[in-house]
Amino acid sequence: MSTAANLLRADLREFSGYKSARSDRITGDVWLNANESAWANAGDADGACRRYPEPQPQLLCRRLAELYGVAADELLVGRGSDEAIDVLVRAFCAPGQGAIVTAPPVFGMYAVCARLHGVRVVEVPLVDTTAGLIADLDAMAEAALANAASLVFVCSPGNPSGELVDAAAIVRLLQRLQGRAIVVVDEAYVEYASQPSLAPLIAEHDNLVVLRTLSKAHALASARIGVAIAQPELIAMIRRCQAPYPLPGPAVAQALQALEPAALAATTAHVAEAKAERARVQTALETLAGVRRVYPSLGNFLLVRFDDAEGAYRALLASGVVVRDMRAMPRLDDSLRITIGRPEDNQRMLAALRPAKDLAA
Ligand SMILES: *Cc1c(COP(=O)(O)O)cnc(C)c1O
Repeated sequence: MSTAANLLRADLREFSGYKSARSDRITGDVWLNANESAWANAGDADGACRRYPEPQPQLLCRRLAELYGVAADELLVGRGSDEAIDVLVRAFCAPGQGAIVTAPPVFGMYAVCARLHGVRVVEVPLVDTTAGLIADLDAMAEAALANAASLVFVCSPGNPSGELVDAAAIVRLLQRLQGRAIVVVDEAYVEYASQPSLAPLIAEHDNLVVLRTLSKAHALASARIGVAIAQPELIAMIRRCQAPYPLPGPAVAQALQALEPAALAATTAHVAEAKAERARVQTALETLAGVRRVYPSLGNFLLVRFDDAEGAYRALLASGVVVRDMRAMPRLDDSLRITIGRPEDNQRMLAALRPAKDLAA
């Protein structure tokens, strides 16, 4: 039995999910089956929004499958990777029971989805080393086994750590947890990492799920398009836990345009520019008085420790520069997370942090 079949909630084994008006492959030219209005809205001149959308738009699935180098039945498209996280928790953790493993400080949605579902969050903190904030995958495996956790979330590159988790170590984690837990590798920032995605490894590991998104490198955060990649059996299971029509038509149309060759080429150029800026901004920050540490980052952001984080945050705000205050996160009480902007944005940010005497010099 596959890991997913082993871990799927017992009460969902026979569950087929919502049968939407669009899920059957039926054809016709007079559609009177879904109680849609026969007349387009006056604000929707071409009637593009009159009908319910395809639950999994075939063309978008094909384009995303090409982009990520997998087959169309090896991915689920949803409302951002956030929805993928949510359906994974709902499919594989019984409400009020079960557990997930996370490595804080990390992206908050894993714990949010778990808590909303009444699922325990077992935390295995990142280890602060000279190389950066590092996930301890051995400890995560032990925590998963000890707590019978069904999902282990590995964020790589990590948000906010910036760490790219070693691929060989993830493979060992997958082997160790095979049949026992699903390892979810969240690759929201992998485009910025100069390292390949782990998506091809789904062929050999039935307990691997890779999350990708159009929200970051593809600059479509508002379209809410994210993808879970895994073996087809697991994808079919989480599909049944998804909303009936998760993908709004206008968002799908926008995503298709963003996946045209010219748009993809522009995205690649923007990612390269962000990476160059990341290196430049890191060096500039490291020379500033009051900066304790800039963590190495393979994302489009830098995690920075300050002598006086409060003062730095206020100085930035006073200049109209908004960064993410991380001080409420465990062991980051002196830290801000700064997204890499355009060169002129980064200049404004750096100027706001430079003490007045440096400016005068
Ligand atoms: C931004 C981010 C996402 C993206 O979520 P979407 O719902 O796809 O917008 C996922 N994971 C991490 C770690 C992130 O930082």
